[in-house]
Amino acid sequence: MSHVLAAVAWPYANGPRHIGHVSGFGVPSDVFSRYMRMAGHDVLMVSGTDEHGTPIQVQADREGVSPRELADRYNRVIVEDLHGLGLSYDLFTRTTTPNHHAVVQELFETLHRNGYIVPKVTMGAISPSTGRTLPDRYIEGTCPICGYPHARGDQCDNCGNQLDPVDLVNPRSKINGETPRFVETEHFFLDLPAFARALTTWLDSREGWRPNVLRFSRNLLDDLQPRAISRDLEWGVPIPLEGWRDRSDKRIYVWFDAVIGYLSASIEWARRSGDPQAWRRWWAADAQRGGGVDGDARGYYFMGKDNIVFHSVIWPALLLGYDGEGDRGGEPGDLGRLQLPTEVVSSEFLTMEGRKFSSSRQVVIYVRDFLARYDADALRYFIAVAGPESQDTDFTWAEFLRRNNDELVAGWGNLVNRSISMAAKNFGAIPPVDPAGLTEADQALLGTARAGFGTVGGLISRHRQKQAIGEAMRVVAEANRYLSEQAPWKLRSEADKPRMGTVLHVALQAVSDANTLLTPFLPYSAQRVHELLGGTGVHAPMPSIVEVDDLDGGPSYPVLTGDYTVGARWESVPVEAGRPLAAPKPVFRKLDPSIVDEELARLGD
Ligand SMILES: [Zn+2]
Repeated sequence: MSHVLAAVAWPYANGPRHIGHVSGFGVPSDVFSRYMRMAGHDVLMVSGTDEHGTPIQVQADREGVSPRELADRYNRVIVEDLHGLGLSYDLFTRTTTPNHHAVVQELFETLHRNGYIVPKVTMGAISPSTGRTLPDRYIEGTCPICGYPHARGDQCDNCGNQLDPVDLVNPRSKINGETPRFVETEHFFLDLPAFARALTTWLDSREGWRPNVLRFSRNLLDDLQPRAISRDLEWGVPIPLEGWRDRSDKRIYVWFDAVIGYLSASIEWARRSGDPQAWRRWWAADAQRGGGVDGDARGYYFMGKDNIVFHSVIWPALLLGYDGEGDRGGEPGDLGRLQLPTEVVSSEFLTMEGRKFSSSRQVVIYVRDFLARYDADALRYFIAVAGPESQDTDFTWAEFLRRNNDELVAGWGNLVNRSISMAAKNFGAIPPVDPAGLTEADQALLGTARAGFGTVGGLISRHRQKQAIGEAMRVVAEANRYLSEQAPWKLRSEADKPRMGTVLHVALQAVSDANTLLTPFLPYSAQRVHELLGGTGVHAPMPSIVEVDDLDGGPSYPVLTGDYTVGARWESVPVEAGRPLAAPKPVFRKLDPSIVDEELARLGD
């Protein structure tokens, strides 16, 4: 058993989640966490909403609300979206808590003390008409990289590159259109080049990463530059240094604060658990760094490919600096030496009907709208078998319909339905195995199902989820073929009935095993199949939304959390002859082909 941290990308609190978002970080991290728990590991799955930064401030200004009000609204919306998909977070929190601010400031102070955060004079914008500082969000201009005419002072929304206001071509004030004047101002920078050596050693010791992620990360090390970690902005975490703490016009850059969320959320989880030090089991560095040897604690980070740099370069650099292990040395801060990521698990992008997701162009389906019309497991299945695990993939409604009807309903659902209803009708219970014993065909199916635990489990633990669910569905296909070949419906005579019982017993054992193998992917239907087989209690635990008091006197907020110590283990459990069975209700809903045109009509053009 080991301590497994599942660190899941933090959704930005500026709108509801669409299925592209959750296919990259949400469902894969939940499949992994559910499997690791079933296999006996001690999993801590954390995340929350990322709520600071210029885009929230800009959107709040536009809507005439405070940034806090906007963050409150979308924190709640996103918590509901993730809950609807059954994502089993131990804690899904937010970045506006005093706990998060304190942890961010602790990292900032220690990195500063160790010499990795350096002040630098840069050019800041002021308004010529008022003489006052012009915050980043009030400046726009043409992106120097891609030519987009409405790039913001801190970032271009078209190409995604981070910018400084002074980089903009033809900069202008969004307040009155005047051209800002640039004057010298002080900001803080993270000295990334001081980590080049330690990061190279660390990346060289990584094993099992997806090759594209490792290659991309190595390339980033070739050109490390100091990176700004403060902004001219009022909304964010204050800079915890003498002379800066009380300034209302300078804040820590949102990317610096958001990546620290993995740590602050783990600390918040521990504080809420009654053992405030419990987070150390997943974070304390207890092994040699750089030799490829980790201790019992492992950290897996899940995200889309646009976020690789933050997880394979910047976050490890912050941790190295905190531990005093960059070129400038230093001493660890109050939290002790912290462990670097074991693996950065990045997915590629999902497109929608051949186009990029775009909320403004209505090329989108939000999680909430999806779940209002379809079941969570239908989406989870599509993401697992056809999601962007290692290459960009396309969501089409026709393919969704086909996967749902041909594979879930006609494959897995049909196996469950026909084996249970035949047993219920002819025996009223799980039939016993005939004393005459098992045939070769019986043994073969039972062997295939049992072998699935090693194969499917191994693939999930190596982040090959597409192959893993393929192997689980192969067990389903084998069981369907077995039923067709053995044709138990023909074994009705008094003399044949014991053999009919054996065939159905074997089939139900395969159903039970396949159900366990599919539980990390399809937790809602797994619970139903468990109950159809006469099982009681929790098979696949589910998260709940709990309104909690802030630990440090801030306003209350909703979190996602749950008790995942209950539920099925990753093993074959013998089905019990004599356990009563009722005629089953269908596990999955067959969809009418007309949904394809209906959904396409909802998309914008
Ligand atoms: Zn651009």
